[in-house]
Amino acid sequence: MQGIETLPLTENTCPCPVCRHGKLSSIVMMDALSCDLCNNIFSPDLKNQFLELEGSPTLIRWEWDGRHWRAPYGQGISWGVKLAAAAFVIFPTALIAISALRFRPLPGSPLSWFPLFWLGATFVCHSACIFSAFSSYYQFSPSAYLRALGKRFWDRRFA
Ligand SMILES: [Zn+2]
Repeated sequence: MQGIETLPLTENTCPCPVCRHGKLSSIVMMDALSCDLCNNIFSPDLKNQFLELEGSPTLIRWEWDGRHWRAPYGQGISWGVKLAAAAFVIFPTALIAISALRFRPLPGSPLSWFPLFWLGATFVCHSACIFSAFSSYYQFSPSAYLRALGKRFWDRRFA
C-alpha cells in the first residue's frame, strides 16, 4: 500500500487507536493484540497493514501513517451521522432555552430554578445518549478507561 508505513507492533510501542493513550501488546498464543488501558482486542493484518477491532458489529479498522492511526475513507461515523448527533443535542436544548427565556417564571416563585435545571438536564441527557452510542460503536468503555487511568496514575505516583 502506498503511503503506509510498517505497523509499529513491537512490544509496548504501538498506541491504541481507540483510546489513544494505551499501548498495544500481543496476547499470548493468539494472533491478536490488546490494549493495556481500554482492554479492546485487535487483530493485525500485516499483509495489508491494517489493525482491525474485534467484537465490533461493524468492520472498524485503522491504518498506520507512520505517526498516527487513521481510518480509511468511508469508514467510521459519517458526517451525516455526526451532524444528526449534533442536532440531537442542539435542537432540544435550544428549544428548552428559548421557552425558558420567553416564558420566564415570576421572580421569587418557588420553582423559578426549574427552567434552568431542565435546560441543563436536557443538554446532559442528550449528550449522554450520543456519547453512549458513539462509545458503543467503538467498543469503548468509559468506566474501564477511567479505572485504568486511575490505576496508571496511582502506580506512577505511589509505586
Ligand atoms: Zn485502548
